[in-house]
Amino acid sequence: MEIAVVGGGPAGLFFARRVKQLQPDWRVRLFEQNARDATYGFGVGFLGQSLKFIRLTDPPVLEDIVSAGHANSTAGFVHRGETVLVDAGSDSEAVAIERIALLNILQRRCEEVGVELHFESRVEDIESMRQAVDVLVGADGVNSRVRTRYQEKFGSTVEPQRNRFAWYGTERLFDPPLMIFEQAEFGLVIAHTHQYCATRSGVAIECDPPTWERGGFDQMTLEEMDAKFEEIFAAYLGGKPLLSQPLRVFYPAIVRNERWSVDNVVLIGDAVHTVHPSIGSGTRVGMRDASVLAEGFGEHGADLESVFSYYRNNRQFGADLFQRAAIQSIKWYETLEDRLHFDPVTMAFSYMLRTGRVDYARLRRADPEFVRRYESLPLPESIGLESPTKGAG
Ligand SMILES: Cc1cc2nc3c(=O)[nH]c(=O)nc-3n(C[C@H](O)[C@H](O)[C@H](O)COP(=O)(O)OP(=O)(O)OC[C@H]3O[C@@H](n4cnc5c(N)ncnc54)[C@H](O)[C@@H]3O)c2cc1C
Repeated sequence: MEIAVVGGGPAGLFFARRVKQLQPDWRVRLFEQNARDATYGFGVGFLGQSLKFIRLTDPPVLEDIVSAGHANSTAGFVHRGETVLVDAGSDSEAVAIERIALLNILQRRCEEVGVELHFESRVEDIESMRQAVDVLVGADGVNSRVRTRYQEKFGSTVEPQRNRFAWYGTERLFDPPLMIFEQAEFGLVIAHTHQYCATRSGVAIECDPPTWERGGFDQMTLEEMDAKFEEIFAAYLGGKPLLSQPLRVFYPAIVRNERWSVDNVVLIGDAVHTVHPSIGSGTRVGMRDASVLAEGFGEHGADLESVFSYYRNNRQFGADLFQRAAIQSIKWYETLEDRLHFDPVTMAFSYMLRTGRVDYARLRRADPEFVRRYESLPLPESIGLESPTKGAG
């Protein structure tokens, strides 16, 4: 059997390693358009469940991630200049890692088991490659060329999301990670920050389109935009600049596919379903897809129909759950104006429960003191989309 993987992000690399481990006699080649050390973005975070899954699936990779990453389990919120810390509990232990460090780990672990990695190899002619191999795996990210080549057969939809993002790094160490709501004169600007290695943090800045427009970000050069964000978050950056890359502005989209495989082509990771930066789980979702698809090949060998059914049957529920959580989170941010009157503790409470994946009882177990603080406050007129009534749970 010969498998070609298009895309050397976390999903493609993890799949290539796992399938080669399970079927050592097969030829597995991976094609990545970028150089070995090139990547976009700064750090990515893994929460407790993701760590657990990697520990069970591939302990050496988990050890590498933990030793190269930065761990934290407390979350912080800054609203109206006040910082509120919440202990998210051992279930929400988090490890963040520089994206390139993660890719380097997975590349090394792929080569160790005999995967053939081809860098600076952009695949242009998807159909020719499909015909030349037994299986073509599209792991080529949110703008997947593999998916778009067969989009009608896959039944693909790509739904752009409303808010604008800019992704930076900084040498200011945000431990605990802070979610900062900063009221600029032209509207609310949000910074999602987290430390991801000994020397750096990631900063994703989010604005709704009217704020983006009033702030003049559409009209600015990238350098002017960087300077403006540094000015807005100066109080938190401790004099450290924002570090940037050419592709710093991006517009998240929700990708869905009615079918995940067509003939001998199968999609994994962002190519088949995206989540959203605000729940920070895209890497884990992609690695989970990778692992289950590889398991399918382990169980059913070259019987593609059974492999692809195994993959879909074992991933659909989990992937849908994350996508629903992402949509809840997106809604929470898009309707934030309705909650700006909240005091900082109520805002932090509403944030913690926004996706429905953490409930009132779990939060009370993780940080009883925070929940007591919240319960002692007078109830605001509206407590937002998904928050339960005080005292419940
Ligand atoms: C601001 C921001 C913050 C994020 N934070 C987190 C976080 O904290 N935690 C988390 O888990 N996730 C996070 N994510 C999401 C995460 O980055 C993605 O979900 C994840 O990288 C998806 O992995 P993937 O392998 O499917 O795709 P990608 O990582 O996008 O990899 C696809 C690869 O395919 C290559 N490629 C594309 N086309 C071709 C071609 N034709 N030929 C050859 N190669 C090709 C690309 O160069 C790329 O290397 C964040 C994303 C953003 C934008």
